[in-house]
Amino acid sequence: MSPSSLTSLLREKANELGFELVGAIPVSRSKTIDIYNAWLKKGYAGSMAYLERHAELKEDPRQLLPETMSLLALGFNYKTADPSEKANNPDIGCISRYAWGDDYHELIRRKLSVLEDYLCRELNAGKISRSFVDSGPVLEREVAQRAGLGWIGKHSNLINWKKGSWFFLAELLVDVQLETDLPFTRVDCGTCTICIEACPTEAIIADRTLDARLCISYLTIELKGAIPVELRPKMANLIFGCDICQQVCPWNRDAPQSQETGLLPRPENISPRLIDLMKLDQTAFSKRFRMSPVKRSKRRGFLRNVAVALGNWANPGAIPALSLGLDDEEALVRSHSAWALGQIPDLQAKTKLEEAKITEKNPEVLQEIEAALAAFALKAVDQEIFTD
Ligand code: SF4
Ligand code: SF4
Repeated sequence: MSPSSLTSLLREKANELGFELVGAIPVSRSKTIDIYNAWLKKGYAGSMAYLERHAELKEDPRQLLPETMSLLALGFNYKTADPSEKANNPDIGCISRYAWGDDYHELIRRKLSVLEDYLCRELNAGKISRSFVDSGPVLEREVAQRAGLGWIGKHSNLINWKKGSWFFLAELLVDVQLETDLPFTRVDCGTCTICIEACPTEAIIADRTLDARLCISYLTIELKGAIPVELRPKMANLIFGCDICQQVCPWNRDAPQSQETGLLPRPENISPRLIDLMKLDQTAFSKRFRMSPVKRSKRRGFLRNVAVALGNWANPGAIPALSLGLDDEEALVRSHSAWALGQIPDLQAKTKLEEAKITEKNPEVLQEIEAALAAFALKAVDQEIFTD
């Protein structure tokens, strides 16, 4: 079969499986690996050590699969319908759109494996293939741009000129020759800087350069330890990921809706009450987020994020939930609950911290308690509250 017929059959099958964006390129050395390595070297990846581990393979996919000849770049739309109820209130947690439904890794992997079977068995056109979603040793935005799927926006996500940026990217490496698509060079962000200005933590430090250590997606999902104190107030009620730079992008204004029912939002992920989330023990957390991307943060990381959001709400209504957090078995949850109580200008919050100071043994938690009490002392001077 000619490369052209094979590519058009594969494209048709990929579309049928729900991949709205499809493009093919010959496999070659990455064109942006030096920029990527420089980014890693500057420490912008924070604690994501797995990115360093993959860096060598990312230079050329043939290091992983020497027989590979072509790469199929794919985009899967995850913009499900906007829910009628949205997390606009500070006592409601906000979860990133991609995590509203079931875990996309499984869903997309199943579709990729159907595509691989179609190529190797039904069309009998290839012997070896490898597919990746999100985690492979491929610089996925670079290959997507080279395969004509769109351009890389200033916020570092791939943007398609017709369909916006709400896409999961995936790749299929195959040992057959496919018809090559042209790289996307027609449009770019131009003079727009909306996403840079909208980012609450100034994480977009230059065009297509993200300091992940400042990004709320990294802070709430990838970071396993304490969230830097100076960034906590900027996180507002974002408890898992952040969509702000994509929400504000003009190219997403008319982004089409995904037809994938497997990604439909779970109602409990749309407007969860922060004080309810703080009550989740391990069993309840595992049950609630079974087969959901949210489980990636683990209970301790998730409740850490919830505590920060409760601190940003700064309402006495959060004191009972944060008192639970102050008693949690995880030091990370206790330390962030202490910080959060320190944000609430209420005598009861101060009393809870003073009680915890007597029993707490963990030095890091104690430090957070003391800092929170010191913040109370300052507020008391400023506002003449807490007069015993
Ligand atoms: S995801 Fe949020 S924090 Fe990260 S760069 Fe975009 S707007 Fe900034
Ligand atoms: S908001 Fe503007 S600058 Fe940012 S990605 Fe979209 S078009 Fe580009």
